Amino acid sequence: MKEDVDFLVIGGGSGGIAAARRAAQYGARTALIEGGRLGGTCVNVGCVPKKIMWNASRLAEMLDDVPGYGFSIDQSRFDWPSLKSARDAYILRLNDIYQRNLDQAGVETITGWARFEGPHDIRVEDRKIHAKHVLIATGGIPTIPALPGAELGISSDGFFALETQPARVVIVGAGYIATEFAGVMNALGSEVTLILRKDTVLRAFDHTLREVVMSEMHTSGIRILPQTKIDQIISGDDARLRIECTGESLDSIDCLIWAIGRESNVTGLGLAEAGITADEHGFIRTDPFQNTTTEKVYAVGDVTGRQALTPVAIAAGRRLADRLFDNQPDAHLAYDNIPSVIFSHPPIGTVGLTEHEAISTFGEHNIKIYQNRFTDMYHAMTSRKPPTIVKLVTTGADEKIIGCHVVGHGADEIIQGFAVAVKMGATKADFDNTVAIHPTAGEELVTLR
Ligand SMILES: Cc1cc2nc3c(=O)[nH]c(=O)nc-3n(C[C@H](O)[C@H](O)[C@H](O)COP(=O)(O)OP(=O)(O)OC[C@H]3O[C@@H](n4cnc5c(N)ncnc54)[C@H](O)[C@@H]3O)c2cc1C
Repeated sequence: MKEDVDFLVIGGGSGGIAAARRAAQYGARTALIEGGRLGGTCVNVGCVPKKIMWNASRLAEMLDDVPGYGFSIDQSRFDWPSLKSARDAYILRLNDIYQRNLDQAGVETITGWARFEGPHDIRVEDRKIHAKHVLIATGGIPTIPALPGAELGISSDGFFALETQPARVVIVGAGYIATEFAGVMNALGSEVTLILRKDTVLRAFDHTLREVVMSEMHTSGIRILPQTKIDQIISGDDARLRIECTGESLDSIDCLIWAIGRESNVTGLGLAEAGITADEHGFIRTDPFQNTTTEKVYAVGDVTGRQALTPVAIAAGRRLADRLFDNQPDAHLAYDNIPSVIFSHPPIGTVGLTEHEAISTFGEHNIKIYQNRFTDMYHAMTSRKPPTIVKLVTTGADEKIIGCHVVGHGADEIIQGFAVAVKMGATKADFDNTVAIHPTAGEELVTLR
């Protein structure tokens, strides 16, 4: 059968767009199907609006800091609706830019929801497309728990749709989205309660980092309820919510945000027709080359259940296109040493193994930790004194750096460069041989003793 296209991408988010553009650049006849808004989660309801809200919350903190620097600001007022409309307008501009980039690359964009009718036959409304290679890049969706009244809460998608600032907010979850939202809303002046199923936020991260973030959450006024189970949510007469938990109930809540995790977005995709079975968590498992169990059908990004980050989806998508259409048979993404940032208050930058992971991989006697705790010079003049901690996890006689962790002012911008060094296999001696930049927080990573 004659193929309509060489490469058909389902999902116009981070991974799908990156793969489609790269493939088209190599001359592959490429089409991309998107049922929602171009840019996917990251652009519309993820990284981009989140970072704007975090920036706003950092400015709010700085307004508290400026008297220490000699400024007096008599009055400041935060206007949520005007930020929201400026943010929405920015995202609309990004949607257009994504469309233009696809057009310029020669990718045909098809609007609608795709469904497999066979491994290489995909239907979008009344159009049927046959493709030689198919990429599934349909991303993820927020998980809403099965609880009485759960529908009275919103997800992260709903958070970005809020037209006004809720005064009393309850956030449920311990991952980075819950942590980030709690910090943002608290700094912007909402009263925030964070409900945890276990004891701590950010359980997958190095314990030193999460201890600082938890302690700063307490200091900044976020109420944290650990080991708490929600039984039901009830809507009150005043349109506010009552959240009944074991041992206590929270009344007059304006907004309940579920941030308990994300699941794969494969409903209605017809995976069975493609011969693909999702795993027990609903994710599409892939081999190191992003191959699914069906020949010439691939998956990248959040739908695979691997590290759910935009640059990971992009890198996996591009390498797949390199392999398929640029004769680079070995091209694939190595999923180790992927740096990431939590836009908490203060932020975290991290790459490599946590201290505990390193110990369980190499044994305690093969690990040496270097760590320093200090107050960033920015805070020498402010009344808030959040700490900064830099930490290196090293192994072996040559003290290879297998983990580099920073929490504190500027950590979000510091870690990218250090991630290059860790990825290249730097040792503690390499760090020591690098001349410090003074006065910065980053210099503490090359002067550890
Ligand atoms: C609140 C929040 C904050 C985040 N912050 C960050 C951050 O700071 N940094 C970071 O790196 N990552 C962040 N992420 C994660 C990041 O957004 C995702 O990892 C990334 O978007 C995944 O890209 P993807 O291509 O796999 O899927 P997505 O970007 O989700 O794109 C999938 C696309 O497929 C479309 N689609 C689904 N099914 C079909 C179908 N059947 N037919 C047609 N189209 C379909 C969807 O409409 C969607 O547009 C955040 C996520 C959230 C929710």
